[in-house]
Amino acid sequence: MEKIVIAATQNKGKIREIDAIMKEFGFKIIPRDEADIPDIEIVEDGETFEENSYKKAYEIMKVSGMPTIADDSGIMIDALGGAPGVHSARFAGDQHDDNANNAKMVELLKDVPYEKRTARYVAVITLIYPDGETLVARGEIEGHIMLEAEGSGGFGYDPYFKPVGYDHTFGVIPPEVKNSISHRANALIKLRQLLIERENS
Ligand code: IMP
Repeated sequence: MEKIVIAATQNKGKIREIDAIMKEFGFKIIPRDEADIPDIEIVEDGETFEENSYKKAYEIMKVSGMPTIADDSGIMIDALGGAPGVHSARFAGDQHDDNANNAKMVELLKDVPYEKRTARYVAVITLIYPDGETLVARGEIEGHIMLEAEGSGGFGYDPYFKPVGYDHTFGVIPPEVKNSISHRANALIKLRQLLIERENS
C-alpha cells in the first residue's frame, strides 16, 4: 500500500520539489491543508534549523499519525556571525517582508568587501515515522552577497545571492537550475541516500 507523508510546509514550490524525490520511495506527499489535520500553530523558536524542522514534523506527526516531513531553511552570512540564520524570514521584523529583510542585509554589509561577503543557504529536512524513527538531511549551497539586486526570480534573498561558480544571482539563474543545485536540492539528495540505506538495512 502507498505510504503517505504529510508535508508540514504550506509552500507549494517546496512541496513540488520534495514530492519529486519522495515519489521514488512510494510516498505520496499530501500538503497539510489537503489532509484532515487541525490547523495547529507551530512556533518556530528553535535555535537551529534541525530543531525547527524536527518540531514542525513532530507536531504534525502527532496529530496525523502518519510519517511526516518538514523543512526549515534560511541564509547564514559569515560577516554577520551566521545571522540571520533561523531568523531569516523575520530578519527585519515579524511582517516577513523580503524587501525589508534585503534592505537590512545590504545596510549591514555595505562596508564589507566582496570577498568577505560569503554566505550559505541551509535547508534541513526531517522525516519522522509514527514509531519515532527520524531521518534528518541537511543541504547547503555557498555563495556571495551582492549589494545590489540582480533579477527578480526566486524569492527571499535570491536577487542578492550569487552561488559559487556562477556569474549571476538566483534572481537571474533559471528556477530549474536553482532547483538542481540549491540547499533544498542538496538536502533532498541526502534524504534520498538515507531512504536507500533504510530500505537496504
Ligand atoms: P522557511 O524555511 O520557510 O522558514 O524559510 C525561511 C526563510 O529563509 C525564507 O523566508 C527566506 O527568507 C529564506 N530562504 C530560505 N530558502 C530560500 C531560498 O531558496 N531563496 C531565498 N530565500 C530563502
